[in-house]
Amino acid sequence: MAEDLLLAVRDLRTSYFTYEGEVHAVNGVDLEIRRGEVLGLVGESGAGKSTVAWSIMNLVPHPGRVVTGRITYRDQELLRLDEETLREIRGKELALIVPNARNQLNPLVTVGAQLANAYRAHRPRASAREAREQAVAMMAAVGIPDPRRRASAYPHELSGGMAQRIVIGMALLHSPTLLIADEATFGLDVTIQAQVLETFRRLIAERHAAALLITRDLGIVAHYCDRAAVMYGGEIVEQADTARLFVDPLHPYTHLLLSAVRYYDLDRSELDVATTAAHSFDLLRPPPGCFFYDRCPKRMDICRTDHPQLRPVRPNHQVRCHLYADWSADA
Ligand code: SF4
Repeated sequence: MAEDLLLAVRDLRTSYFTYEGEVHAVNGVDLEIRRGEVLGLVGESGAGKSTVAWSIMNLVPHPGRVVTGRITYRDQELLRLDEETLREIRGKELALIVPNARNQLNPLVTVGAQLANAYRAHRPRASAREAREQAVAMMAAVGIPDPRRRASAYPHELSGGMAQRIVIGMALLHSPTLLIADEATFGLDVTIQAQVLETFRRLIAERHAAALLITRDLGIVAHYCDRAAVMYGGEIVEQADTARLFVDPLHPYTHLLLSAVRYYDLDRSELDVATTAAHSFDLLRPPPGCFFYDRCPKRMDICRTDHPQLRPVRPNHQVRCHLYADWSADA
């Protein structure tokens, strides 16, 4: 594994085994994240973004499981590690922040004590005083006003946004090497959102760490991500440097996402209306051809029967679409 390559995901396939059958949520995803980099994973609801995050953490909820694939983190195969080793890595080096995380907090313990306990969980020699100070400092870092006083509050005494920031603070306490943030700032005030995302960026620069930002908000991708991968139907359909993706997108689905943003000026609800026609295919029975076929304004006959592969079409730019079958990254 190249020295600066922190995470490599290869041919990841994750399914949910329901009474109706196998729901193919993630269909052969390949991703790489390097140190110092923020990768944005973007797409509409149900595209499989969160399942990718859970798969990396080996926390896919029942009735799901990783069917096949490799997830390599710093030369370690995460899917082959025993639970104890994995738990140690999860707490210290990999951090996952999920949306609406309030229910991760213990309602009977003050938020300051919860942060302090989380700090000592991986630093058993830390004094109670040091843990308390770290808790207050982290609350300040994620934008909690008057953090020393609020450390004594119970979760129900905080707004949803503040509770979310406490959970974000918990994930950042051990300065993770790889932060996976799944709609982590959704619902936060724009100013606070910017503050939290800047905290992510600072952490990444200071620790030479990396982040996977999972979002439907292309504004976040544009401002905070070095590269972006677009997901549709459990697949990556386009991946490129962020600037390239926004200026010169290739895949028709990326065009759809970006045109929705341009028309509606980053209004989230409008974006959802414009892009959430839901999958036009059944994840229980993926079609043989392109998954985007029914919604694609540029479809051709071949698209109905031949499934396109993700392939390089320019340096640092991959796309899954028959329109670019003749393009080559070497040209
Ligand atoms: Fe559209 Fe065909 Fe490209 Fe799929 S492969 S996105 S249907 S042009």
